[in-house]
Amino acid sequence: MVKETEFYERLGVAPDATNEEIKKAYRKMALNLHPDRNPGDKTAEEKFKALGEAYDVLGDEKKRKLYDRYGKKGLEEGGFEQRNARDIFRDLFGAGVFDDDEDASGPRRGDDSVNPLNVTLEDLYNGKTSHIAITRNILCSKCHGNGTKSGKTPQKCKSCNGRGIRVTTRKMGIFQQTEQTYCPDCHGRGEIIEEKDKCPACNGKQVVSDRKILELVVEPGMKDNQRITFAGESDQAPNMEPGDVIFVIRTKEHNRFKRSGNDLVMMHSITLVEALTGFQFSFQHLDKRNIIVKSAPQQVVKPGDVMAIPDMGMPIYGRPFTWGRMLVKFDVIFPLYNEVSSKIDEIRKCLPAPAKTDDTLMTDGDSKTETVTLESYDPNADRQQRQREAYEEDDSDDERHGGPQRVQCAQQ
Ligand SMILES: [Zn+2]
Ligand SMILES: [Zn+2]
Repeated sequence: MVKETEFYERLGVAPDATNEEIKKAYRKMALNLHPDRNPGDKTAEEKFKALGEAYDVLGDEKKRKLYDRYGKKGLEEGGFEQRNARDIFRDLFGAGVFDDDEDASGPRRGDDSVNPLNVTLEDLYNGKTSHIAITRNILCSKCHGNGTKSGKTPQKCKSCNGRGIRVTTRKMGIFQQTEQTYCPDCHGRGEIIEEKDKCPACNGKQVVSDRKILELVVEPGMKDNQRITFAGESDQAPNMEPGDVIFVIRTKEHNRFKRSGNDLVMMHSITLVEALTGFQFSFQHLDKRNIIVKSAPQQVVKPGDVMAIPDMGMPIYGRPFTWGRMLVKFDVIFPLYNEVSSKIDEIRKCLPAPAKTDDTLMTDGDSKTETVTLESYDPNADRQQRQREAYEEDDSDDERHGGPQRVQCAQQ
């Protein structure tokens, strides 16, 4: 009986390789072939399985002995169950090397289709239903995904034994070189459909393109980055669980309101007189209602004050008839000097007098006292000044001084 060496070939090791060599070879190949690392490659799962199958046997002393003596048949007769390729991988590398949370025994799963969904703040406040057309592959209904006219399941490709890959081993003196290539006969699919038996509807591709209208419901209170999922509506393929079609909410900026959790924030400017004596103003809400806002009686508003209007914020998602707050940030507009210059004395009389200052410090004239005048402050003027100084100091050692010009370039 000729010794079977196929499993050794899959791992690219010699039939007399040590356990260490086998383990090392598997680790290296499994990382490269892992389906999560080759998302576009539809044959990756098959190749990964083939590798796992080989390592499952050769990495186990009992199974390897049986295989060496009687081949694959011996294993089957020995009653050994073939373990799942992902389990084998996980045993060696631990969980979490790849995002490997799928049910180990389940069928392989297609990729999700993730799309941005641009909405306005009005949409998120009021809710919105829209219809979106998607185009995806579905199993051909004429051949039920077989790809054949006769209805038979396609033949397993003989040249690669249905694996989609071909392993070639070359002997170079005492070395063995193993190469894995796509099977050219089945183009890596592992199956062959004869030209005359190809399903006319899908031309043997097993899938056809299909258009579907999805009803997309944005519910009141949904948030930025929230996902709306249509389970299993992505591309279909034989022996594969289709992925989901997912829409991710992206909120456009609003020119009046900013969202902060369930609250809405708006800026409002009032005059100094309003700040001191009370005011009212109106705004249009996101559902086009006109809202009239009145200040609380006997309350002075200072620049930067924030006031809240209960229940005027965003609807709270999943909790009907509950809303966040509307926060109003106040800016107080002060009059210009020439608007009040003729009434300075009256203003002095009717507003509270300033707190008493220490008169001993206010005597100008002795040598320990100096009188200065305030100027308006321009932060940019100060930066220009510092830059000028830096240049004058030394313009050749930019690096030591942090290089003002370079910093400016980096900011642009
Ligand atoms: Zn078909
Ligand atoms: Zn093939």
